[in-house]
Amino acid sequence: MTQPKGERVGVFVCECGKNIAATVDCEEVRTYAEGVPGVVCSVRNKYTCSEPGQKEVQRWIKEKALDRVVIAACSPRLHEPTFRKCARTAGLNPYLMEMANIREHCSWVHQRERPAATRKAKDLVRSAVARARNLVPQQETEVPVTPAALVIGGGIAGIQTSLDLANAGTKVFLVEREASLGGIMSQIDKTYPTMDCSI
Ligand code: SF4
Repeated sequence: MTQPKGERVGVFVCECGKNIAATVDCEEVRTYAEGVPGVVCSVRNKYTCSEPGQKEVQRWIKEKALDRVVIAACSPRLHEPTFRKCARTAGLNPYLMEMANIREHCSWVHQRERPAATRKAKDLVRSAVARARNLVPQQETEVPVTPAALVIGGGIAGIQTSLDLANAGTKVFLVEREASLGGIMSQIDKTYPTMDCSI
């Protein structure tokens, strides 16, 4: 079944103090986002990940009945879990939140190019809104897994991987097609820095 597109997107433009605001014109990005199809509110925050920042996102989600949220801020590697939790707390499925990275991808890499960095931030926000509108709610499930690993290849990398996994408590199955372990390493008669025989 095709999911309906998001029609009530909220955009939150983070200044990250001066991290973003010193290079990207956040107010220009915020105003621009208001005109992107599907956007019903566009808000500028000083620090969106802070507690007051998250509270504001949640307030807008409830007040405007937002069905998608775009956070224009830093890398999702840093705060995607934060904002998913933030959305969930406000009653929105956490997978209906999308991030636009206007810090690492704009302000940090275009520090002396304010107009270009701002233009790029607008593009990233518009793209994030388009993607957000097509997101579908996801449900998290937990399934039991067998705590075992298969390592294919008994060269130096395969052996080390197996040892690391075993030391971490995982049962390991190491598969090697040759009769002995060691791979290319076992054919080397001197190894740096000790110049010992590898075997
Ligand atoms: S959300 Fe990211 S960009 Fe915004 S204040 Fe926090 S760390 Fe900085």
